[in-house]
Amino acid sequence: MINQNIQSDLVHFPDFHTHQKGNVFSIFNVLPDDGIPNQCFSWGIHPWYLNENWEKELEKIAASSSNPQLLAIGECGFDLIKGSGPKVQMKAFEAQAQLAKKIGIPLILHCVKGTHLLQEYLKNHPEPPTIIWHGFNQNPQIAEKLLFFPIYFSFGKAILKQNSNAQQWIEKCPLEKIFFETDNSDIPISEIYQQASLLLGLSTMQLADQVMENWNRISNRKMT
Ligand SMILES: [Zn+2]
Repeated sequence: MINQNIQSDLVHFPDFHTHQKGNVFSIFNVLPDDGIPNQCFSWGIHPWYLNENWEKELEKIAASSSNPQLLAIGECGFDLIKGSGPKVQMKAFEAQAQLAKKIGIPLILHCVKGTHLLQEYLKNHPEPPTIIWHGFNQNPQIAEKLLFFPIYFSFGKAILKQNSNAQQWIEKCPLEKIFFETDNSDIPISEIYQQASLLLGLSTMQLADQVMENWNRISNRKMT
């Protein structure tokens, strides 16, 4: 046990979606006015920030397509609690999904009360990009139906909560489909791995290996 603890101090726990800048093995999510960071990042137009200029913003994102540190498009997606109307959200999502597909990188999905819109998108687009649903905390039955698609699930602080949807789903979700993240919380990423380790009966190192394997399977761009 002691050995494992010493080793795990040396392991990097990859963080697939974070708003904290400057960490290694993490995908920093760029928001409007952030500018392009000198680290691995994701860039997209969040439904909260969709305005009439979104197509111009998307052109800027497309212009950095060849930047090897651009690891994903997003977060983007659907939010029926906050943001613009569903029609605009769908249009912007389709465009961003198309860009992700064209570059060959995953899309990081933000989805709040918008599962039906995601399902509608999947119905109309038989070849979607790889999608990582970040901060997943929906009913496991919804997730189960999505396993047929190239959809992955990124787990964050919701797995710390007893009996949450996220906790229930991580126990059923195929290991090939999992990622971990801190999002906008101050919780260290190691704590998320420790919790997942307890829930899944695998060591944190095994989990770190698993998610890197998952990443390398879906992307040619290296996470550093
Ligand atoms: Zn986020």
